[in-house]
Amino acid sequence: MVKDGAYIEKVSENATDYTEFFTTTTVFATRREMLDWVIEVGKMHNIVIIIARSEGGDGLGFGTAKATLTCERAGKYRLSKSKVAIDVEKFTGTKKMSCPFRLQAKEHVGGGWSVVVRHGMHNHDLPNYNEGRAIIAKLKPHQLSIVKELSTSHVKPNMIMAILKNLDPRILTTVKHIYNARQKLKTETMGGRSVMQQLMKLIVDNNYV
Ligand SMILES: [Zn+2]
Repeated sequence: MVKDGAYIEKVSENATDYTEFFTTTTVFATRREMLDWVIEVGKMHNIVIIIARSEGGDGLGFGTAKATLTCERAGKYRLSKSKVAIDVEKFTGTKKMSCPFRLQAKEHVGGGWSVVVRHGMHNHDLPNYNEGRAIIAKLKPHQLSIVKELSTSHVKPNMIMAILKNLDPRILTTVKHIYNARQKLKTETMGGRSVMQQLMKLIVDNNYV
């Protein structure tokens, strides 16, 4: 764990240190595998992990790609690619606490990904995972297009859910998300256009997917 006075003073004395759970010598084959592992460990401890910063995407084996992973309560504001501050709290509906919990993932030269714990503590209670998972259960852009397409063809939400699950068995979306997405799409169609386009751009720019 990295010593960082600015962080440590925000953490209460009896805060649990999660360092040991996220400490691994495993070199993951891909960024996705690394993320899957981190997200899974997070789930076991009621921590919703988000990608706060990502450079170089999946990487090309040059050892230059990296990603900073935080708790969903990491910060109120983040910069989009266009350097505009985004109010994450407003955007995701999750209260931000400037939580110091932080993992650093890095690509190796020749491929493979490692992850190290930069700060293992949180400055807030961890809610039930189900409460927090709404963020990562958000529909991805291509899934949203499928919902839109199928809804226009009057396919029922249950069936849409089955189709999405078939395409991606690991999907965390529930029928409720599909209802919500349909409702949103309906409102936006009525409002003219571009609200959803804007929203999708924000989501993609900020690695919410
Ligand atoms: Zn946290």
